[in-house]
Amino acid sequence: MFVGHYAAAFALKGKQKNTSLAMLFIATQFVDILFFPFVLLGIENLKFEKGFTAVNDFNMDFYPFTHGLLGSLFWAALFYVLYLFVFSKKKMQKKNVALVMGLAVLSHWFADLIVHTPDLPLINGKPKFGFGLWKNKAVTFFTEAALLVLGLQYYLRRTRSITKSGKYIAIVFVLFLIAINYLNMYVLPSDNNIVALTVSALFAYFLLATIAYFVDKKRI
Ligand SMILES: [Zn+2]
Repeated sequence: MFVGHYAAAFALKGKQKNTSLAMLFIATQFVDILFFPFVLLGIENLKFEKGFTAVNDFNMDFYPFTHGLLGSLFWAALFYVLYLFVFSKKKMQKKNVALVMGLAVLSHWFADLIVHTPDLPLINGKPKFGFGLWKNKAVTFFTEAALLVLGLQYYLRRTRSITKSGKYIAIVFVLFLIAINYLNMYVLPSDNNIVALTVSALFAYFLLATIAYFVDKKRI
């Protein structure tokens, strides 16, 4: 899953207004931010198999550290601890903020669960889980879009704009995310070079988090 992960970021920002939407964008994609470099380093494994699913050619046969449920819990706990003890020194409700950041990291596994083929382990090896929505491109596209719209709705209800543009900017941003997903799934050729894939994925994750930062500034 790609942009669908940001549904959790919007929803959690709506839940806890003292968090940064930009950091929630990073947190919800955190295990993927690790996954691609881990593949490059040979720690985890991604095989390209033409037509593996309707959406992409990714056969992820070994990635317990980033996409095992236990691994995800570890990274979520790390975010929780970092937010509790390092990042939010005197801030109000820091326990709550730390918890929300941890949940954001953990949300990735459950969102991936919807679309992945059964390749998500609990710890490592079998049993592996995944509902396999990636077998159908259109269903995947509309599911991610619907999740985003739901997350956005909650975010809009729970925050309000402080500038004129703040009224529409989050909506425009979500439409932009859906458009990017459309390009990614239907227009751009599939990128089966791990170096190029890593560079473009990391670039996208950090660019979108940067945009989220500016969107978030327009609303309180
Ligand atoms: Zn993932």
